[in-house]
Amino acid sequence: MVDPYEVEDRLLLKTYVKRRIAIISGRGSEVFDDKGRRFIDLTSAYGVAILGHSNPVIVEAIMNQLKKISSCHGSFYNDARAEFLEEVSRFTHRFFHKMILVNSGAEAVDLAIKTAFRKTGRSRIVAARRGFHGKTLGALSATWNPEYKKGLEHIMGEKVVFAEYGDAEDLKNKVDEETAAVILEPVQGEGGIRIPPTGYLKAASEIASDKGALLILDEIQTGLRRTGTFFAFEKEDVTPDIALLAKGVAGGIPAGITFFSEEASTVAEPGFHTSTYGGNPLACAAGAATMRLLREEVTRESVEERSRIFCEKLETLKNLRIVREIRISGLMIGVELKVRSKPFVDMLEEKGVLALTAGPTVVRLLPPLNIPLNLVDEACSIILETMRSYESRLGSSAAAG
Ligand SMILES: *Cc1c(COP(=O)(O)O)cnc(C)c1O
Repeated sequence: MVDPYEVEDRLLLKTYVKRRIAIISGRGSEVFDDKGRRFIDLTSAYGVAILGHSNPVIVEAIMNQLKKISSCHGSFYNDARAEFLEEVSRFTHRFFHKMILVNSGAEAVDLAIKTAFRKTGRSRIVAARRGFHGKTLGALSATWNPEYKKGLEHIMGEKVVFAEYGDAEDLKNKVDEETAAVILEPVQGEGGIRIPPTGYLKAASEIASDKGALLILDEIQTGLRRTGTFFAFEKEDVTPDIALLAKGVAGGIPAGITFFSEEASTVAEPGFHTSTYGGNPLACAAGAATMRLLREEVTRESVEERSRIFCEKLETLKNLRIVREIRISGLMIGVELKVRSKPFVDMLEEKGVLALTAGPTVVRLLPPLNIPLNLVDEACSIILETMRSYESRLGSSAAAG
């Protein structure tokens, strides 16, 4: 076998902060490395494997489609694509008029921004501090972290204004007659699992519409039942002009969707947005299977049940000195520490649990939505035990603050 560590380090330009594990297989909520070590995956591969790794229903759908045809350009019609659209539409027809199938989250964001510019004839975007929308040029402009924009300020600079997330008053001050769109995540993921106050999204919708700007809700991390409902905005009595899905939308095959209200959909014409892989039959077959599972097996109730269990089990973390706050929306879980979160995530990894950071002090968990209850149990025990040893380690080096 090739040595993945040696080859990747030698041939890939280093743009990822690497973790020293070569994951070579996965089954459900567990993954396995090249040394045969097993890990409970509380990352879902960054929110992609929402129904677990190698879900048999999705694997079968992909295999069957692969034998039929795997490529079909969007200029031709295709049955797998039609099936996927019908399945998605069962969840989304109440809110949206049309969709465009794309390949990634960032492309879905770019398309939303293009639409807002063209629809309004304006050229400014209002986004949120700590917001994350991806890293292509368009999406990056709406992403907050200045680290990602080094050397690109001249392109992304003036057109985007950042408002304090969760603060409707600040948003109101920043949206004006030049604003084409307000783009927000219903819960900030990358930015630290930040849950805005109830009413914030509703206020954002009113502020945008008062000024003739579109509201774009980036549901790439929050959508697909991550917070319980299909879209997180459903719990807030608001419908955006444009919404975005990606990550798990095609069961692990790269795909994204941009959704349009009737009003927003009027800008499109043939040629406005096309992409060679958009609506690819393989992704569509996997996506249709994903939607069926979200309809029949992984329901709002089942996600909320798991959410409650995580809540209860992690509750005692609050007694630790190094834990500042726990924030949970469905199966989006953030544990904010008073110290750096990366060393904790590394310790957890050694004990066989994969977690993510979100900013310097937040531990982020995005478990598969159908994680078995015994694994929730096992993972939570390891988290508690590891957090205790992290605290005592810091205590003994007098570094805890
Ligand atoms: C992951 C993510 C993106 C970017 O998606 P990519 O497929 O990585 O381009 C955009 N917005 C949010 C909220 C995300 O979580």
